[in-house]
Amino acid sequence: MKTYAETEILDVIVIGSGAGGAPLAARLAQAGKSVLVLEAGPSFSPSRYTSDEIEAREIYWLHERLSGGRNPQPFGGNNSGTGVGGSLLHYGAFLPRPHAGDFRLHTETGRSVDWPFSYEELLPYIEEVEAFIGVSGPSNYPWDPTRRYAYAPPPANPAAMKMREACDAVGIRHADGPTALITRDFNQPHFGTRKACANCGACHQGCRNGAKSGADNTWLPLAVAHGAEIRSGCHVHTIETNQAGRVTGVVYTRNGENVRQRCERLVLSAGAVETARLLLHNELANSSGQVGENYMTHISTQIWGEIDEEVRPNRGYPSLTITEDMMRPKDADFAGGYLIQSLGMMPITWASNIARGSKRRGADLVRTLAGYNRSIGMGIHGDCMPSPENRVVLSDEKDALGLPKPLITHSYGPNELAMHAHASRLLTRMWEAIGAKDLRLLDRAAHMMGTARMGTESGSAVVTPYGQSFDIDNLWISDHSTFPSATAANPALTIMALSLRTADAMLKN
Ligand SMILES: Cc1cc2nc3c(=O)[nH]c(=O)nc-3n(C[C@H](O)[C@H](O)[C@H](O)COP(=O)(O)OP(=O)(O)OC[C@H]3O[C@@H](n4cnc5c(N)ncnc54)[C@H](O)[C@@H]3O)c2cc1C
Ligand code: SF4
Repeated sequence: MKTYAETEILDVIVIGSGAGGAPLAARLAQAGKSVLVLEAGPSFSPSRYTSDEIEAREIYWLHERLSGGRNPQPFGGNNSGTGVGGSLLHYGAFLPRPHAGDFRLHTETGRSVDWPFSYEELLPYIEEVEAFIGVSGPSNYPWDPTRRYAYAPPPANPAAMKMREACDAVGIRHADGPTALITRDFNQPHFGTRKACANCGACHQGCRNGAKSGADNTWLPLAVAHGAEIRSGCHVHTIETNQAGRVTGVVYTRNGENVRQRCERLVLSAGAVETARLLLHNELANSSGQVGENYMTHISTQIWGEIDEEVRPNRGYPSLTITEDMMRPKDADFAGGYLIQSLGMMPITWASNIARGSKRRGADLVRTLAGYNRSIGMGIHGDCMPSPENRVVLSDEKDALGLPKPLITHSYGPNELAMHAHASRLLTRMWEAIGAKDLRLLDRAAHMMGTARMGTESGSAVVTPYGQSFDIDNLWISDHSTFPSATAANPALTIMALSLRTADAMLKN
């Protein structure tokens, strides 16, 4: 890998090496730009990953985040990762496309907001991402028969099979979901052999085979092959500007030392909490007052139940079955919709979710946990609207680097509550229809979005529809913080597609 001197002024510095930072870094490096990616976390070799949930915590972002609101979110591994590859190191690789209607929800319903461009405009980037990283899926996707996936789906685990039975029992369609993994060996240019998915179920602990399509085995090797440097263990805390207010560089801490690196253009890809935190801490790009605002999650209501046979939820690719039939349900008393996905889960993650979400305690909790091997789960990802109630601000508490810890406020509004109630009724009916017992509904949220939203007007948005700051023309944002609304789809595909789109805009700019 090429390395740049600390005295060099680089064309582009990217902060963060995940879904938002990596595709853009590759595109800009391919175009001949000098690109440095600064990543707070370490660089891992795939052979280091283990299915042991305790050891795997090294790929989670564990800096303390303070959490408030009526639906406070648990942070840690539940919400972001760290290391070269970002949260894609431990994501579940479920890769549905966003729903075209979610980009124009305001036009459709008078609620939420429209995105500043259409789904159709993003589609070529979505297809490019899928083709480059390798995505598996069914030959006939019921909700979009025009779609083609390059790889056949992995085998369905028992939870996926049970969800299919439950869908059939209540009369809704189901399919193998799109998954960001490869099911036959592939020689990824600049990376090497990615082995076919072994169906081991350890996606959230890091994929030893390289089968899971992340940034570390796709975009980042491409970036490095074209001259980018990925500098790990570098936590950026200061963004420097000149008298004209333009960015001149950053200061990061590495091994306890502060290092300055200068650049022509800066891209923030640190994720919805850290991008907002950096901007707030440095008092930048916030003439709209929207930095940190409109924090969003996905409504991720889960249901777990017990059946008589052993299913072992840790086995097999975790989330294979999908239904998109609830994207616009006829009996909805809410705007938008939700996806339902089958769920497998490792035991410690599962036990923590049950303890936190089911409110069971004492002997009741112990008895529930003893039923792990016979437990089946499914869950939703539901659209979430931007709300002035939900935000990231800087708290009075300082972290080990002396930076203010972020305080995140998260409360469901009436639309989210109505969607959660609708999903709770349906999921319960589905598991009851196949005889699952001792049902536990978990009221939970997942993923992080918003906090630096894109829009067409500088008064109400932080960045343009291409991710460029309205206030500082050489500052760009490429991560899930720019989402104007959550959409129902798991976010990684949209983030990567936006990242390529932002890179193209930077090259034209
Ligand atoms: C448990 C879990 C499962 C998930 N499963 C799925 C799934 O199945 N499908 C899906 O689509 N999505 C999934 N997601 C969500 C998805 O992984 C994220 O939305 C996406 O990866 C976020 O990409 P990003 O580039 O915006 O941020 P991140 O990937 O989080 O990247 C931020 C990077 O920036 C670094 N960083 C932060 N601050 C600094 C700083 N100050 N200086 C230097 N570096 C910094 C971090 O270390 C990190 O590597 C999951 C998320 C989690 C937590
Ligand atoms: S299930 Fe497949 S993609 Fe997931 S960690 Fe195992 S080999 Fe990798």
